[in-house]
Amino acid sequence: SCAIAFEHVTHRYPHAVAVDDVSLRVEPGETVALIGPSGCGKSTLLKLAAGLVWPQQGTVFVTDRALAPDNLLEIRHRIGYVIQSGGLFPHMSAVDNVTLAARFLKRDRQWIADRVAELAELVQLPRDALERFPNNLSGGQRQRVSLMRALMLDPAVLLLDEPLGALDPMVRHGLQEDLRRLFQRLRKSVLLVTHDMAEAAFFSQHIVLMREGQVVQRGSYRDLI
Ligand code: ADP
Ligand code: ADP
Repeated sequence: SCAIAFEHVTHRYPHAVAVDDVSLRVEPGETVALIGPSGCGKSTLLKLAAGLVWPQQGTVFVTDRALAPDNLLEIRHRIGYVIQSGGLFPHMSAVDNVTLAARFLKRDRQWIADRVAELAELVQLPRDALERFPNNLSGGQRQRVSLMRALMLDPAVLLLDEPLGALDPMVRHGLQEDLRRLFQRLRKSVLLVTHDMAEAAFFSQHIVLMREGQVVQRGSYRDLI
């Protein structure tokens, strides 16, 4: 069984082969760090796993099921996705962003309130920050809110695209520690993109190096250096 698997996956944009015959697995509970230079296809690989783009060749599996148009909505609920800028809707308060999908799914109001409280504590977001709009949050708080939104429906899989990339070094360091503790506690399957080798090594023993759309190396930090 696997949390995420790519089997010979290729994705081309009109002028670029972003992902070129990639095979890769993330086992349940494991964190895999994906690293490589800008433009090598890391974001596209995450978008493939989130069903935001489709492969021209190969198959993407999430929680052992092949992604297909007719099961995409169902499988999406097993995925939490966080991007570098947070991707929060600017015209909604933090709490409205976090609860959007749950309200859409008509989850019980008390369940939603309890879940928000639980997640705010988990990601260490001050309660008053929940009522603010994204523009009135610090960069670190925005990423914490984005993480809450990703975790709201308790997905099996987290896709994190440079989640700390927009933060200044001090904030970044603090959030790195918090995130690692979170992954260990939640036992989620995580595919994390970073361009920072130290960060990759900090989060995982399983580092995958990409270049020009292909996986060129994989192993621990010691294997790679
Ligand atoms: P990374 O995340 O490693 O920076 P990306 O997956 O964003 O890499 O991009 C891989 C390649 O695909 C690059 O050459 C990029 O310019 C191209 N690309 C990414 N997104 C698009 C798009 N929406 N349309 C066309 N080309 C794209
Ligand atoms: P990242 O590499 O972190 O994904 P980029 O700045 O490369 O960030 O891309 C930002 C957005 O622009 C993404 O949604 C990506 O798909 C899109 N994009 C990237 N390269 C191209 C491209 N060559 N043509 C069109 N869209 C692109």
